[in-house]
Amino acid sequence: NSVFANVIQAPEDPILGVTVAYNKDPSPDKLNLGVGAYRTEEGKPLVLNVVRKSEQLLVNDPSRVKEYLPITGLADFNKLSAKLIFGADSVAIQENRVATVQCLSGTGSLRVGGEFLARHYHERTIYIPQPTWGNHPKVFTLAGLSVKTYRYYNPNTRGLDFEGLLEDLGNAPIGAIVLLHACAHNPTGVDPTSDQWEHIRLLMRSKGLLPFFDSAYQGFASGSLDADALSVRMFVADGGECLTAQSYAKNMGLYGERVGALSIVCKTAEVATRVESQLKLVIRPMYSNPPIHGASIVATVLKDRDMYDEWTVELKAMADRIISMRKQLFDALQARGTPGDWSHILKQIGMFTFTGLNADQVAYMRKEYHIYMTSDGRISMAGLSSRTVPHLADAIHAAIS
Ligand code: PMP
Repeated sequence: NSVFANVIQAPEDPILGVTVAYNKDPSPDKLNLGVGAYRTEEGKPLVLNVVRKSEQLLVNDPSRVKEYLPITGLADFNKLSAKLIFGADSVAIQENRVATVQCLSGTGSLRVGGEFLARHYHERTIYIPQPTWGNHPKVFTLAGLSVKTYRYYNPNTRGLDFEGLLEDLGNAPIGAIVLLHACAHNPTGVDPTSDQWEHIRLLMRSKGLLPFFDSAYQGFASGSLDADALSVRMFVADGGECLTAQSYAKNMGLYGERVGALSIVCKTAEVATRVESQLKLVIRPMYSNPPIHGASIVATVLKDRDMYDEWTVELKAMADRIISMRKQLFDALQARGTPGDWSHILKQIGMFTFTGLNADQVAYMRKEYHIYMTSDGRISMAGLSSRTVPHLADAIHAAIS
């Protein structure tokens, strides 16, 4: 008898489990709109040209070896990542008050940041939006923080519950940590306007709330790296402190390479140095040091003017294709006379549409149309193509009617 005989079967991950179910479906018409990974018009994963080029350069460079990176990762990568999110002219960077460490993509950056805060920050409560990416509560709870939510989404308007958000953050204890999606909020696709960000900033700074930005979609939302970093830069410009978790999964298509960075903006260079020394103590017993390949790809692209420019063009093409899928899906529903207001498909930002379909409708579409999405009705627009839009529109029409 196994010593593990009492281990009970765990449920599938609510997001990655959608792909597990999809893979088991033999239907030729099946469509996976669950996981947030970019697909081409042909439904294929995309490796950016500039990434291929960068990898070629790395492979052909005889000076490259496979030694361990430092605990904090590749130094060039860290510097360039901070510059990417905070801006080339960032005063915080010029004043050396940013501690940046390479981490295992966005998730790893959130986890390391969470563990650092649990050890060294006086307030252990983190407020996350309701709803949010399903992994957030798990990551922060395991990091040792206590997780609470703030109102974010209003299902009636399919927009931001701005008053609810301000009220909940206004009632948070002084100094509480607040998780903010830098852009392209997942799963709702609803972002504050720049005026609303300014309100949020003023409220948070007046109460000493500590911003922790999750930046998983920089450049992927609008097609502009600078525009998508606006919220973060507003908070850094006021001289206050914040944390930022960056992921290169979507914007450079490096999903499986697990490339990301955690930056902690501090008040002084001296504090940043001490913060970095403590980040090393978080990382060393967790995974010792990060992998070298993906970070080298990113650093190669970011430090070469031509490659950087080529990246921005490829990035914008991905963002534009997603935006055009919004238009096509909206038009297809209009053409079918599907009841209801579907303008939120056009308005929402980023990879996902939060359709408003309920769990029963989602189950119906899976059973009858072999279309897979998370049970909250979130669909990945990046998984759609001109060829599959009609099938999805038929399914939504049937599920609603
Ligand atoms: N935050 C959000 C909001 C996300 O949507 C994702 C990816 N789904 C991540 C973080 C982290 O992704 P990764 O660890 O692959 O970078």
